[in-house]
Amino acid sequence: MIERDDAVAYIAKLERDLQAAQSRIAALEREAELHARYARDLDRRLAALLSVSAALLISHDIDAIIRLVVQQAVELFPGTATAHIYLMDNEQEGRLRLRASAPEHAPAPAFSILAEMAAKAPRAILLSGPELEYVIHQQNTAYPLSIEDCLWPQSVLLAPLRIEQQRLGALVICGEQLSHLYHPRDLPFVQALADLTVIAIDEVQQRQRAAALQRDLVHTQSLRAEAEARLNAAQAQLLQSAKLAAVGELSASVAHEINNPLYAARNSLYLVEQDLPPDAPQRTFLAIAQQELGRIARIITRMRDFYRPSRGELTSANINALLRETLELVTTHLRHNHVTVRTRLANDLPPIVAHADQLRQVFLNVILNACDAMPSGGELTVSSELIAARAGAPATLAISITDTGVGIAPEHIPHLFEPFYTTKPHGTGLGLAISAHIVTQHGGRITVDSQPGVGTTFTILLPLEPPVTAS
Ligand code: ADP
Ligand code: MG
Repeated sequence: MIERDDAVAYIAKLERDLQAAQSRIAALEREAELHARYARDLDRRLAALLSVSAALLISHDIDAIIRLVVQQAVELFPGTATAHIYLMDNEQEGRLRLRASAPEHAPAPAFSILAEMAAKAPRAILLSGPELEYVIHQQNTAYPLSIEDCLWPQSVLLAPLRIEQQRLGALVICGEQLSHLYHPRDLPFVQALADLTVIAIDEVQQRQRAAALQRDLVHTQSLRAEAEARLNAAQAQLLQSAKLAAVGELSASVAHEINNPLYAARNSLYLVEQDLPPDAPQRTFLAIAQQELGRIARIITRMRDFYRPSRGELTSANINALLRETLELVTTHLRHNHVTVRTRLANDLPPIVAHADQLRQVFLNVILNACDAMPSGGELTVSSELIAARAGAPATLAISITDTGVGIAPEHIPHLFEPFYTTKPHGTGLGLAISAHIVTQHGGRITVDSQPGVGTTFTILLPLEPPVTAS
């Protein structure tokens, strides 16, 4: 038989046990609830980090990236008042500069202490309460104290922004003043956010460096191409000049050699003529011989005059006047060949610094060629105009000489300016070679545009001032 008292005591014990069990269950339930909240929190933060990383990956602008990061930091850590990113200043080596804040207003100047600390830390750190006060107190003497400086947060999260050993800056996240305290489990998230930021910044910088390298490469390539083109042109020019110089020497010496016997022959014929009766039948042949020898003499003079590279001084020349003089020189010749002349000379042409004689020679060569190209007559148009200076190109005079002649077959075009290239039975093939030489010596260009059966235009482009090397 159990005693009544014992039974009461036993029941009381059972009740106590029950209560203990109930409160233990309640505690477990609370813990479970906490875990569930924590798990939800974790989920939310992971989702937020994922969306941040997605946004960061498509952003190509560092300012946009760090603005997004500070905004997301405020969202990601409940109880956050402000978030800031400081980056190393490129101009001031080793100094941090505030680059982004959320909400968008500058923090108290003393916040830079926290930024310095964050930048030097190996990993994300959490500072709260007395520790934080201590840090501020230790450092703050260097900064002028302001009202804001006195309203410090209770808790901050700091993270370094660094890639490998290179410090890029710092992320500073501040809790609301007075009450809020961060939790150590926030640290992996802060570190993750900082790492994401660094990856995004690095990506942009790499891309910028790659783009800069690409630009440099393209630039170098174009410089190289330009240099090669100049070299080729210079070589071609050199070859042309060498050929012309050879021609010049040859013709001068041939002219010299022929001149004396020619003079003797003409003189002898003159003496024979003196002795012939006025009605002698030989007179006709004598006249022909004299005429032909005269022609040889003229050819020789032309040969001697053909190539005189630096004759005369550079002077201020009026291109229209030179063109008119040249046309006057050949008026009779043109009329004989049934060629009508039209001029379209711009009347506001500035004078040009040039060797007038040489330019006259060029115009003469081109006009005579035009005339040769119109064996049964036609129209010759001579025009001049000023082309204003443009980016990289100086002001230039353009002189065009157009004929309505036979034209030039495309396969001849590349050779026109080569010495001795001629399609005429009695041509010398020197006119255009010498003309091109003279024009290039003046810093200009001569181009041709032709349509077989329709006609040809030679265009001579001359800068107002020749380059200093012109002779
Ligand atoms: P040449 O007149 O002694 O032949 P050039 O150097 O003056 O030598 O001219 C070279 C060649 O260019 C000519 O033989 C001719 O075939 C061609 N040419 C030059 N100008 C013209 C033109 N206006 N129309 C057609 N062909 C031309
Ligand atoms: Mg000619």
